Amino acid sequence: MKHYSAFAVAREALRSHTGWERAWRSPEPKKRYDVIIVGAGGHGLATAYYLGKNYGIQNVAIIEKGWLGGGNTGRNTTIIRSNYLQDPSAAIYEKSRSLYEHLSQDLNYNLMFSPRGVIMLAQTHHEVRGYQRTAHANALQGVPTEWIGPQRVKELVPIINLEGPRYPVLGGLWQERGGTARHDAVAWGYARACSAMGMDIIQKCEVTGVRQENGRVTGVDTTKGAIECEKLGIVVAGHSGQLAEMAGFRLPLEAVALQALVSEPIKPCMDVVVMANTVHGYMSQSDKGEMVIGGGTDGFNNYTQRGSFHHIEETVRALVETFPMISRLKMLRQWGGIVDMTGDRSPILSKTPLGNCFINGGWGTGGFKAIPGSGWGMAQLMATGHSPLTEAFSLDRFKEGRFIDESVAAGVAH
Ligand SMILES: Cc1cc2nc3c(=O)[nH]c(=O)nc-3n(C[C@H](O)[C@H](O)[C@H](O)COP(=O)(O)OP(=O)(O)OC[C@H]3O[C@@H](n4cnc5c(N)ncnc54)[C@H](O)[C@@H]3O)c2cc1C
Repeated sequence: MKHYSAFAVAREALRSHTGWERAWRSPEPKKRYDVIIVGAGGHGLATAYYLGKNYGIQNVAIIEKGWLGGGNTGRNTTIIRSNYLQDPSAAIYEKSRSLYEHLSQDLNYNLMFSPRGVIMLAQTHHEVRGYQRTAHANALQGVPTEWIGPQRVKELVPIINLEGPRYPVLGGLWQERGGTARHDAVAWGYARACSAMGMDIIQKCEVTGVRQENGRVTGVDTTKGAIECEKLGIVVAGHSGQLAEMAGFRLPLEAVALQALVSEPIKPCMDVVVMANTVHGYMSQSDKGEMVIGGGTDGFNNYTQRGSFHHIEETVRALVETFPMISRLKMLRQWGGIVDMTGDRSPILSKTPLGNCFINGGWGTGGFKAIPGSGWGMAQLMATGHSPLTEAFSLDRFKEGRFIDESVAAGVAH
């Protein structure tokens, strides 16, 4: 793999850009791999990358039914933060956020990580108490966050209306090193690095069955034929239930569509990310100037990866209360992704009833921020059978009642 650098850009400019290599290979599947990862979203690719980088396991295939990054990884609103309430969540999300800080250098790929700061607005007294509690918990966890009053919110976000018609802004939970990154680039950067290690990313190849013998996985059936493996990682977000069914076990989660939309591009007007969970909307401004707006999940289970009119209306109506200026914006496009929600709003990173089969899912509305940390922990779990980062997120917690309740941090917010 050729190194990307300012020198390489200058060199290619002088020879009409004829020397760039393909960022990743598109091979046909081999008969057998040490590890198969199903799903080339951010979590699947990051798992493969850290298997190779941290454990030297490079005979790996990542199998994707569509195109890499074409699931939720390429459909999300890219908010990165680690201000969760419970200790296991803070550990994995903060590991992830801190990996994002240097990930562009690590992958030699510009992920456009922008730690511009994230505010979660408190618009009810209940939220004030909830976020102040989270700020105290974060202090104990070593995650730098701060409770700020309305005047400080106004300084950070001049376009905000503190006196909303229904809900005034009473303050907010501020994480200065939270922010955003370019979602496609995260998938592309990991994919390029995986391919450079010799891993096979096999796109347009759907897994249709999980082969097993004596309680262990022996391989998968795919639309490109059967492929054998020593270990299997299922990392398919909203389709986790379907893959689990193929493997013969059930998961405590449900699939639901989550939608987002962007406005026409305008001049820079907001340089932080703002989440308004009471009125149910959040917003940031992209590098192109579009206002990136996210709303809630559909109220019913479904697999439709598209937007719907009533969501635009609901989300924009809610946000206009807090940001009156958006009432004059034209909306450019909207879309949806299928997210997998657990009852406690925390993910599942776990062994499964099949000895050599592992699952990573249940990230719901908020897994983009977790991609590097989740890949790090999942690779450790798959390589060694144990990871302190993933331990609390095992499937056993649903049997044993050890829920990791993040309904405040992740029930609405992303
Ligand atoms: C509108 C929206 C906004 C969001 N906003 C945020 C946000 O601001 N911040 C945040 O942290 N998170 C956010 N999220 C959540 C985040 O996008 C997801 O949690 C995260 O991207 C999940 O990544 P993944 O790699 O697990 O899944 P995906 O990127 O969905 O990858 C899974 C892949 O598995 C493939 N697959 C499925 N079935 C099969 C099969 N049978 N065979 C082969 N391949 C298969 C799919 O095609 C897909 O590419 C948002 C999500 C949406 C939809």
